Amino acid sequence: MKELDWSNLGFGYRKTNYNVRCYYRDGKWGELEISSSEYIPIHISATALHYGQEAFEGLKAYRGKDGKIRLFRWEDNANRMIHSAKGVLMAEPPKELFFEAVKKAVLLNKEFLPPYGSGASMYIRPLLIGTGPEIGVKPSKEYMFMVFVLPVGPYFKNGFKPVNMMITRSYDRAAPLGTGTYKVGGNYAASLQSMELAHENGFASAIYLDAKEKKYIDECGPANFFAIKDNTYITPKSTSILDSITNRSLQKLAEDMGMKVERRKVAVEELETFDEVGACGTAAVITPIHKIVDFDTKKEYVFGSPDTPGPVTTKLYEKLTAIHWGEAEDPYGWITIIDEE
Ligand SMILES: *Cc1c(COP(=O)(O)O)cnc(C)c1O
Repeated sequence: MKELDWSNLGFGYRKTNYNVRCYYRDGKWGELEISSSEYIPIHISATALHYGQEAFEGLKAYRGKDGKIRLFRWEDNANRMIHSAKGVLMAEPPKELFFEAVKKAVLLNKEFLPPYGSGASMYIRPLLIGTGPEIGVKPSKEYMFMVFVLPVGPYFKNGFKPVNMMITRSYDRAAPLGTGTYKVGGNYAASLQSMELAHENGFASAIYLDAKEKKYIDECGPANFFAIKDNTYITPKSTSILDSITNRSLQKLAEDMGMKVERRKVAVEELETFDEVGACGTAAVITPIHKIVDFDTKKEYVFGSPDTPGPVTTKLYEKLTAIHWGEAEDPYGWITIIDEE
């Protein structure tokens, strides 16, 4: 194993030994190839560069308590990449190819897989791009699917600690019938200005409202939004948000804990009534939110203590991470062990 300061890894790019690649040409996918280069040669007129034909995924591998390497819900990520590929008219990487590529990328870089107990894990980034040259706006005939990995610490520097976020109506991330449900770079391009505004003002993230009425909460930057009140887990239903696998998992665990789960519109004013709120996604799992400032009305919504996440948020976090690390049963078959050591 590499000698790294595992507990203090940030969430940043780091070179590992290998990545895997696969090309789609003449209407079919080729063989998986292994590369030790961090670069890809790409045609200057590739559709990914000009017309945003690209999609990505993000999942993690964990070294469990028993030393085994676990993938969490990879099949959901594979399905979502297929959904994204369909959304921007790209060739879809078959599920088996997705799995083989992920498994290979992780196992080839095993020395970068953080040890159990460090809190660090291996982030896996599958990427699909249109590589064929087109200058008229149309889908490429050629694609490249690749997977690279890197060891990561917690997404937010302070770990599982509450953060503050802001609402702004000055920017939208995705339109109601746009590309919000696809994990494509274009949505991220659209989010950069509001994220920058949030960071400049000392907030961890911007919270997006629905683009049409600007009344309902959509999501929190690259994470879904959830709230807790009256023994209920509430999360927005919207046609412009990314269906988070972490959020789906938390909904299941909340049900297990005897809570009600509601997926519905969440109006901004309803923030006043919530006991706990948070953001969820693979990178940070859960980011508890202490305060939400409405940048336009200057209204502030405060939840719990600035230092300690709420009790339900904490319990959900502990339950989910215990499954990740193989410390708890996996009743829903979310874990795939890829290496019996
Ligand atoms: C990836 C992503 C999420 C989180 O999804 P997970 O499957 O939980 O990692 C949430 N929102 C957006 C916009 C995303 O791109």
